[in-house]
Amino acid sequence: MNSPGHSQRLAHIQPLPDQLINQIAAGEVVERPASVLKEILENSLDAGAQQIDVQLAAGGSQLIRLADDGHGISRDDLPLALMRHATSKIRSLDDLEHVASFGFRGEALASIAAVARLNLTSRTADSEHAWRISNANAASAPVPAALSAGTVIEITDLYYNTPARRKFLKSEATEFAHCQEALLRMAIARPDVAFSLAHNGSSKLRLSRSDSAQRIRDLLGGEFFEQARSLELAAGDLHLSGYAALPAYSRATRDEQYFFVNGRFVRDKLLTHAVRQAYADILHGSRHPAYVLFLELDPYGVDVNVHPAKTEVRFRDARSIHQFIFHALQRTLATPLSALPAISLASASDTNAATTAEPGQTLRTAPAFATTAGSPYSSAHSSQRQASLGIAESRRQHENYLNFAAAAASGLDATPPGPNENTTSPLGYALAQLHGIYILAQNASGLILVDMHAAHERILYEKLKQTLDTRTPATQALLIPVVLSASLSEMATAQTHADTLTQLGFELSIAGPQQLTLRSVPVLLARAQPTELIRALLADLGEYPTSQLIAARRNELLATMACHGAVRARRQLSLPEMNALLRDMEATDRADQCNHGRPTWTQLSMTDLDRLFMRGQ
Ligand code: ADP
Ligand code: MG
Repeated sequence: MNSPGHSQRLAHIQPLPDQLINQIAAGEVVERPASVLKEILENSLDAGAQQIDVQLAAGGSQLIRLADDGHGISRDDLPLALMRHATSKIRSLDDLEHVASFGFRGEALASIAAVARLNLTSRTADSEHAWRISNANAASAPVPAALSAGTVIEITDLYYNTPARRKFLKSEATEFAHCQEALLRMAIARPDVAFSLAHNGSSKLRLSRSDSAQRIRDLLGGEFFEQARSLELAAGDLHLSGYAALPAYSRATRDEQYFFVNGRFVRDKLLTHAVRQAYADILHGSRHPAYVLFLELDPYGVDVNVHPAKTEVRFRDARSIHQFIFHALQRTLATPLSALPAISLASASDTNAATTAEPGQTLRTAPAFATTAGSPYSSAHSSQRQASLGIAESRRQHENYLNFAAAAASGLDATPPGPNENTTSPLGYALAQLHGIYILAQNASGLILVDMHAAHERILYEKLKQTLDTRTPATQALLIPVVLSASLSEMATAQTHADTLTQLGFELSIAGPQQLTLRSVPVLLARAQPTELIRALLADLGEYPTSQLIAARRNELLATMACHGAVRARRQLSLPEMNALLRDMEATDRADQCNHGRPTWTQLSMTDLDRLFMRGQ
């Protein structure tokens, strides 16, 4: 067997060769081009650089070139820079406990050099010219080179000698997006440093030296900035500053959460939890807050040596840090929120919210179609009901249109059942809805219980499959196109998979560097919350490196689409709507199970019920 713990024969213990040690370490430090970029950016900042210029080719897998104006590396130190566990940054345990530099482990360059070709050219202020070293001939001494100041590092052919790793690389666009994100994190933390980024010869980003506010506005956009509250609070030696966005600017993913501890970007459970809790009362559970926060504290109070990539930290006094952040944020966010529009979420309460809120307010805080408050199954009845509730005119028109189109597309008949219903339809006729989750129906043999979301999801899934087997599904133009802010990787995915999205029935276009416009969706999904739907789809598509693979994974995509298109739990359905769903189930293949294999309905026969009540016993 070839699994751990089953080596074929007993071998002698031998020290591993250096190159192999470095390749193993590279597994942790050099996960992808973006992690290489992160390490060398940190080195430049540690060297006091004021200007950092990065050039990438093929998402960084072919070339990562960085030039800085830092203090440089002397001739004699150059070979040491590529050596494992060689660093200029700490000398003792005491240094480690007070470390203020990004680096200290002395393993990044050695690890990178173990899995790529690397050239390092550098010049210190007191040197007459620059020196250059390369890992191609590791044993050889540095050679003279031309460079006016600072350091240039060139990394080419990443993973050329570790093909298994190379296979894990995603598409060029995705890898580039990760690199861009790595640079963005540094740039947010260090507004005092100028950065530039180019990819495949074209310039992608140019940031001149500025202050924190301007830098954040440049990178995250005015939309974030206008919806964010700035904060600055101190307690003892803890200092928290930055920006926290109000709920109206919440996100479907965690893509705009930037937390820096002593200037280092971290993803830390304790910190995330404290923030999350501060938002708990004002943000729906499925949404994620957006923020840029800087926590400063005595380096002695935080251990950064927990993870090779140093994105996790450990606090000596975790409890007080948690408390401090929680209270600081809660106070910041608490100031008259009632005066601000709350975000609408698709749920049963929306129907009421829409009727009580000022129409203008509802439309402003969420696109008119964000809440499909109309019935999931069209009927003249429900449209009239909405009309009598006096919902804003444009909203109602839009929903009627959607309902009409959806019904037309799915061929639904929402007419109430005729007199002989119980005997003719296997799934019977609806009696009531239980807690907004189950449909209770009566058929010839007894009671039918239906999980309405699961059932509807299955129906949509089968319909999407059937349609796509023959053609692009009919599309439905949104009355008001949705403009959504997108993360860099979402942008990359939208570009890579533009054709697939079109084939699936979406009209999605690029509206800005981090903005997408959604103009139409498949008619079958006209009831879905469009932003959530498109984000979920982009998240799925982001998993696939190229569009060639999509055909094989098509059904997974359709499942995601169906889930978002299906009627949500706690949506109040009318009897005709419920009956329409039952009829649709009867007409759909495999309607007995949802896409996740759970049953969609069950029967309790009269005999079952009699047994429950011990009737006739
Ligand atoms: P670490 O950053 O943990 O010390 P690295 O392997 O990243 O380890 O770098 C090794 C050493 O090379 C650093 O300690 C530093 O002295 C030197 N070095 C690397 N990059 C630069 C740079 N851009 N400018 C100046 N010195 C650098
Ligand atoms: Mg380093």
